Amino acid sequence: MAPGELIVARSVGELRQELGPLRARGAVALVPTMGALHEGHLSLVRRAREEAAVVVVSIFVNPLQFGPGEDYERYPRGLGADLALLSREGVDLAFCPEAADFSPPGFATSITVGGVSEGQEGAVRPGHFAGVATVVAKLFNAVGPDVAVFGRKDLQQTAVVRRLIRDLDFPIRLVVAPISREEDGLARSSRNVYLSPQERAAAAALPRALREAQKAIRERRPAGDVERETRTSLENAGFGVDYVEVVDPATMQRGAGDAEGAVLAAAVRIGKVRLLDNVVLGETRAE
Ligand code: AMP
Repeated sequence: MAPGELIVARSVGELRQELGPLRARGAVALVPTMGALHEGHLSLVRRAREEAAVVVVSIFVNPLQFGPGEDYERYPRGLGADLALLSREGVDLAFCPEAADFSPPGFATSITVGGVSEGQEGAVRPGHFAGVATVVAKLFNAVGPDVAVFGRKDLQQTAVVRRLIRDLDFPIRLVVAPISREEDGLARSSRNVYLSPQERAAAAALPRALREAQKAIRERRPAGDVERETRTSLENAGFGVDYVEVVDPATMQRGAGDAEGAVLAAAVRIGKVRLLDNVVLGETRAE
């Protein structure tokens, strides 16, 4: 295989076989994804390249993290286009396991990360983070990366993965990359394709409300007031609001107030689509 060519592995066996010789080049970074890749994913890939000599991207729509009635069946998939993007980015290896092989019938192991998994997305989507943690642990085990790159777009997921790494002693450094946004501020997401043109236009009110909240916190308004006002402004913009909370991003505990690093995280519904976003309150620069 010519150097620089994207290697595609479809099973753990193939992955280990292909990755073995690449390890001589240096550190390995893993970017886990569910495919339907967009610029947000590619920003993680570029970050991974800064962190390591070998970049592995996994593409796996993980059935374990979808609840009953969620969008597992219709989740956007397009492996050919994804691989073309990864190839263009100079990714070394794409790991694209089959669900029947990676989480086959009879799969019975589950990793529950307590505490950080319990509020926010964990409360709205019971079992979601056990599905995430189980598959992330499998990916860590299969790839054996030195570095794992996750997006702050999924804030609570980064807290869960950080805890998983600590608790199970994975020798992996977690890198959390900033949120990649569209021109109007909407955080990029594979699920944005579900938005109708009207919903897509309305969705920009979410990042706008978060920026307002960031400004209010900087003006020393109490976190509780800012949470309530942001909720009201999101409801007035036509969203169903699942949560608006100021948290410590490491513990996902509320009461972080305006502490250094506190994050305002929100999830809203517009039509059938859920939008997640968050903003680091002390950050003066917009992403
Ligand atoms: P997903 O394919 O949605 O599971 O996402 C794979 C990884 O990409 C996760 O670590 C996400 O947090 C990250 N990601 C998704 N969207 C964005 C975005 N707009 N900016 C930065 N990272 C993102």
